[in-house]
Amino acid sequence: MPDSPVLFLADTAPDGATTFTRADPGAAHVRVDDLGVTRGDGIFESVAVVAGTPQSLRHHLDRFTRSAALLDLPIPDTAAWARAVTDAAAAHPPAPELLAKLVLTRGVEGGDAPTGWVHVFPAPDHGPQRTAGIDVLVLERAYPSDVVTRAPWLLQGAKTLSYALNTASLRYARSHGAHDVVFVSSDGDVLEGPNSTVLARFADRWVTPPPELGILDGTTAGRALAWAAGRGDRTEVARLSADDLRVADAVWLLSSGRLSAPVRSLDGVPRPTDAALQAELLHHLLTVHD
Ligand code: PLP
Repeated sequence: MPDSPVLFLADTAPDGATTFTRADPGAAHVRVDDLGVTRGDGIFESVAVVAGTPQSLRHHLDRFTRSAALLDLPIPDTAAWARAVTDAAAAHPPAPELLAKLVLTRGVEGGDAPTGWVHVFPAPDHGPQRTAGIDVLVLERAYPSDVVTRAPWLLQGAKTLSYALNTASLRYARSHGAHDVVFVSSDGDVLEGPNSTVLARFADRWVTPPPELGILDGTTAGRALAWAAGRGDRTEVARLSADDLRVADAVWLLSSGRLSAPVRSLDGVPRPTDAALQAELLHHLLTVHD
């Protein structure tokens, strides 16, 4: 059965202890007055499960915990969530690439418990973008690079369920002939994609922008930088401008689902990609389980 999603529902006790129960993924489980549905008030993680092994699970759960803290949600019982991800992945029919989606919402309006679940399902086929590369637009995110300290209520840096603007920016890109987006701050810093982290290579120096800019601390970028360091290259978490991306030797968008996608044009201007390095990086992301 190639398409047999697995669902585990969370039950969170007042002291935060969480137990998970397997449930029918085809049945309805979330109430219409759940604040995750009506307000996007909640958090999530998407974890790649490659050859049955969840990737960077500790890093994902640390980020899930930080997101929960930023939204004043109950702090997740990470041991229980880790077990649920591992058990749900093991319960899924084997597949080269799956995704595990972890969701935690503020729960039903007026209630006192969060709603949570782990859903494991086949990953979409990203083969063409991994191989042929992607066309990317540089778009304004319209907040300054110090948004985290200046306006913490904007929740930048939390992986919230409020992704309407992320998907809107992707629709905008597609309606303008591109595949994806790199956001820049109002003062010119490269931020991230709507569902990816930016990685640029300048000779033997690999650079990704810092989470202090109000962007997610990407797990895939962490794995890619560890791989680059292992090749003897220099790695940096540092600020970049869109002009830096234009002159970089190669640029990628990285994320748990697509893993690495080479950027082959920026704002319609073709830029070089490096097929050999992409193959090496993708091979690492698909075969080194951490
Ligand atoms: N930035 C945003 C806004 C994302 O939504 C994602 C992933 O979905 C990423 C970055 C990449 O993070 P990761 O590599 O941990 O999947």
